[in-house]
Parts: sequence; structure tokens; C-alpha cells
Amino acid sequence: MSYDVIIIGGSFAGMSAAMQLARARRPILVVDSGMPRNRFAAASHGFLGQDGVAPAAIMREALRQLSAYPTVDFVHGRVAAARGEIDRFEVEMEDGAVHAARRLVLATGVADTLPDIPGLAERWGVSVMHCPYCHGYEVRDRRIGVLANHPMAAHQALMLPDWGPTTFFTQGLVEIDADLAAKLAGRGVQVETTPIVAVLGEGQEIAAVRLADDRVASLEAIFTAPQTAPASPLAQQLGCAFEDGMTGPHVKLEPGQQRTSVPGVYSAGDVASPMHNATLAAAAGVMAGIGAHQSLIF
Ligand SMILES: Cc1cc2nc3c(=O)[nH]c(=O)nc-3n(C[C@H](O)[C@H](O)[C@H](O)COP(=O)(O)OP(=O)(O)OC[C@H]3O[C@@H](n4cnc5c(N)ncnc54)[C@H](O)[C@@H]3O)c2cc1C
Repeated sequence: MSYDVIIIGGSFAGMSAAMQLARARRPILVVDSGMPRNRFAAASHGFLGQDGVAPAAIMREALRQLSAYPTVDFVHGRVAAARGEIDRFEVEMEDGAVHAARRLVLATGVADTLPDIPGLAERWGVSVMHCPYCHGYEVRDRRIGVLANHPMAAHQALMLPDWGPTTFFTQGLVEIDADLAAKLAGRGVQVETTPIVAVLGEGQEIAAVRLADDRVASLEAIFTAPQTAPASPLAQQLGCAFEDGMTGPHVKLEPGQQRTSVPGVYSAGDVASPMHNATLAAAAGVMAGIGAHQSLIF
């Protein structure tokens, strides 16, 4: 069967695109491999009406609601390849199945690469976090570290004192000039230039970090911005243009309705934005769904 639209990625962005197209009664397919970026976190925060709800529970409810629309098909699995052109796209699953569509929406998200420090990765999403708006409130008033992973990390260090007493670990990546030193001091941020070499604590909790000179600094939470890259190579395969965001490359959008540089291919969510947040991904997904729908008409 040939669909009007295939949506690759069935999380905040993809399911939001699907909802618009389902309600427009278009035959669509949602393909998802079940690896949303926030799967490491027990609760999602800041999403209106869903604050504190488990990410998987939000997606279960979205799937239940979308399943009520008769023109929507779902496939669980990973798309290995995408090819073609407007009105004639094909996506090939890892098991070899091929599906065709007139439009594509790429909502495949990004993959995170954390600094290579023992003890960091296993605490990701629990006591090591990327976004204070998502998880800062839960660690309010605790001893917070900001671990620099790129030269703009001071931005995050300047924000975190609104949540708790903050130490900025520069890791040799951030030059503290007089102006920045004054700003950090003005916000009450302690600066530590000796790099963290290990994260210490019971289970997924943090009790302290070990520094390169063997000192141990007491800490209860770490914020760091991982490097990001598209979670799948489909946009590259289709020839979509990219641009650099602060943490990594993302699909470049043309003005209006989440269009990529390839006619007929729309993209939404983390993979097509420098700003990574579930609500922003869902909003972009709505726009991609509308864009794909209207391009089938006008
Ligand atoms: C630890 C952590 C906690 C977070 N907490 C919050 C929070 O509390 N609040 C908040 O607003 N934001 C939070 N975020 C950010 C949020 O997770 C992302 O902004 C959001 O998930 C982006 O949605 P998305 O739909 O673009 O991508 P994702 O949610 O990452 O979903 C992409 C989907 O595409 C699928 N996929 C990828 N490639 C393929 C392929 N080739 N074939 C088929 N399927 C594919 C994946 O399996 C996945 O299901 C958090 C992020 C992290 C890392």
C-alpha cells in the first residue's frame, strides 16, 4: 500500500504530526523503533497537563488516542533506508519490508554523547541531567555542578543558581576572562578549573566528584550538555541540508511549515532544532503534519 505520509519516529514530534494528519483523514504510517531520547528519565517535566508523568506513559496514551483514527497504521521497527523524491518516496525497514508514500516526516530525534568520565553515563537522566527546566526543580537547593562540555557552558552555569548552590567545572574548555569571572561571581557560582575525573556515589545517586589532583568535591547533581547527532542517517540519505547547533548538527529548515531542503520531506523535533524540549518537539510536529497535509492539496 502507498501512504500519503510516512512519519518516521513516533515520539513527541512524530505523534503530534500524525495526529494532525489522522484528523485530516489521510492514510498515514507511523514507524517507530521505541528509543525516545528521554527514556532514561523516570518522569517528564514541563509538558502542559503531563508534568511529572513517565515518558512511556505519555506515549502509551498518545498511541491509544491515535489508534482511534481509522486511517493510521503503526509499525514497530527501525527504518534502515529512505529514498526517492516528492510523490514517490520509499522507506525500507531493517527486516527488508518496503513502504511507499508521497511525503515523509522525519521525527527521529537525536542521540547523546556524554563526556567520557567514569560514573557519568550510568547516572544519565537520574542525577546527571541536560536541562534545568526539565529536572532542576527536583534537585532544588542541593549542591549542583555544571560540567562544561563545550565553550558556551558558562551560559548554563549562570542559570543554575536559581535552582541551587552551583559549582562550574570548566574542564579546560572554558576561558574565564575578567568579564565572565565577574558575572559568575555576581551569581554566586564557584569556579573549579581542575577537571572532574570520576563521579562517585551509591547506585545512580551522586555524592561527590573526584578531581584530577585527587581532591574530592561534594555534589548531589550534575548538569551537562551532551554532544548531539541525528539518531538515524535518514536525513543524510535523502540529501537534506544540515546546520550546526550549539551541541551538534541538525536538519536545516526552509521558512514555513517544517520543510527541509528536499521537496516533500518535512522534519520536526530535536533532529530539526537547536533547542531540545518535548513541548517544542510536539509543536514542531504539529506544524510538520499540517505542512505535509497542505502540500498534498496546494
Ligand atoms: C534524559 C533526558 C530527560 C529529558 N527530560 C525532559 C523533560 O522532562 N521535559 C522536556 O520537555 N524535555 C525533556 N527532554 C528532552 C526530550 O526528551 C526531547 O526534546 C524530546 O524527546 C524530543 O522529541 P522527538 O520526538 O524529537 O524525539 P525523541 O523523543 O527522541 O523520539 C524519536 C523517536 O524516533 C525513533 N527513531 C529514530 N530513528 C528511527 C528509525 N530509523 N526508524 C524508526 N524510528 C526511529 C526513536 O526510536 C524515537 O522513538 C529530556 C531529554 C533527555 C536526554
